[in-house]
Amino acid sequence: MKKLFHLFILILFPIKSFSTELNFNNASQQEYDEAAKAKGSLRTIQEKTKGLWPRMSEGRKYTLEESNNLKITENEKFLIYKTNNIPDHDLFSNNPNCATKKLYTFKIPKEIKYLDKPRKITKDMQAIGVMLNGVVIAGPYDSENKIAPYNRVVGPCGAHADPQGMYHYHFAPMCLISNGKKIGLETNSQIGWSFDGIKIMGLADRTKHKPLIDEANGHEHDGEYHYHATIDFPFFMGAYKGKPTTSNFNQKKKGKASGRTCVGEAALQKGSGKGPGGKGKPKKPNFKNAEKVLGIKTKDLKKALGPPSPNPDLESAAKQLNVSVEELKAALQL
Ligand SMILES: [Zn+2]
Ligand SMILES: [Zn+2]
Repeated sequence: MKKLFHLFILILFPIKSFSTELNFNNASQQEYDEAAKAKGSLRTIQEKTKGLWPRMSEGRKYTLEESNNLKITENEKFLIYKTNNIPDHDLFSNNPNCATKKLYTFKIPKEIKYLDKPRKITKDMQAIGVMLNGVVIAGPYDSENKIAPYNRVVGPCGAHADPQGMYHYHFAPMCLISNGKKIGLETNSQIGWSFDGIKIMGLADRTKHKPLIDEANGHEHDGEYHYHATIDFPFFMGAYKGKPTTSNFNQKKKGKASGRTCVGEAALQKGSGKGPGGKGKPKKPNFKNAEKVLGIKTKDLKKALGPPSPNPDLESAAKQLNVSVEELKAALQL
């Protein structure tokens, strides 16, 4: 019956939408830890992380006073995206950081200058492209030089904010809306621009979307060369086929480090929750609340805290979970 239903969907929406089920969090913590450290050539990393989807958690929804502000102009050479880097869709936080207004100018070459040898995306390139909504597309590495979607957690929109409040996508932009439609999962819709002027298209499964997706994560398809968002490493580009505009890489440094954490909201949620714990007795950690507030699974929280104890080592657990001790305490209602 399910098969029939799928067939029905496929007939209704031929090749338009991503046809595989979304399958985030399909590995154990240990497998993700291993995958996050994978090194070697792009194909080696793909082999080592085969079938792995990113870690994803719903986190908690938050709102900002600031809203998306994007102005697109052009001159002879470039399409110019002047953006405040605030997304135009729902925001979810699953790490301690919230999106903050940034003033970036991204220049997308109108004419692609193909390089003799593709330029590899390295960990120093944090922003590698821009979505159609003016928000940063990130390279696959985090600040520890590990593969971010395995080492960290993305939200339901395929993104998160860094400690400086720079919101960025690590995965297909599942909440991106263009012309009134969610397009991040549409394999054949453009979702953004690579800094070399080549289009980035929606989510593709490299085992199904042909012709073969190359090491830059693109292919010649329907008469044009384009990149794809992919389920697996490198998620967006693996290398630039064309010459990227260098000034785009300096934008992050230009933005003031006006980091904004979401601690306030976590604390608010604490206040509204019914804290367990009685008089005198040590309080029991409220894993359910922490899961909701931090977007970290109970299983992982318990692992980080170690065996039940009246005095769990919060400092070490917080470090493992990549949150502050205060946040962990507040989230666990201790
Ligand atoms: Zn990131
Ligand atoms: Zn394609």
